[in-house]
Amino acid sequence: MGTRTKKQEATICFCDVCKREDNMSYGSGGRCEICGIDVCGLCSVADPNDMGDYPYRYCRKCWDVGIPFREEIARIENEASNSVDAQLAKWTAAIAKLSKDKK
Ligand SMILES: [Zn+2]
Ligand SMILES: [Zn+2]
Repeated sequence: MGTRTKKQEATICFCDVCKREDNMSYGSGGRCEICGIDVCGLCSVADPNDMGDYPYRYCRKCWDVGIPFREEIARIENEASNSVDAQLAKWTAAIAKLSKDKK
């Protein structure tokens, strides 16, 4: 293989996994959130729980290794939001009790 003379534009990156040239600015690929390598759309997984325009991306290796960790994170987040809900409910109840006591 000869030396590549093709001009490389700023938006073009090379996928660290398949070495394919990819335009990362189209949201097809990006940087792995865990190990930081550049991955193209085919070699990366976008977090399906992230509904934003730029969801977190992971290379397939980190994604696979991360299965138990993501489960744990989801459990913690779920638990935390349940506790927050419980406190808010108590708060609302306390206010309701206050206004009831005044009458
Ligand atoms: Zn790739
Ligand atoms: Zn990774």
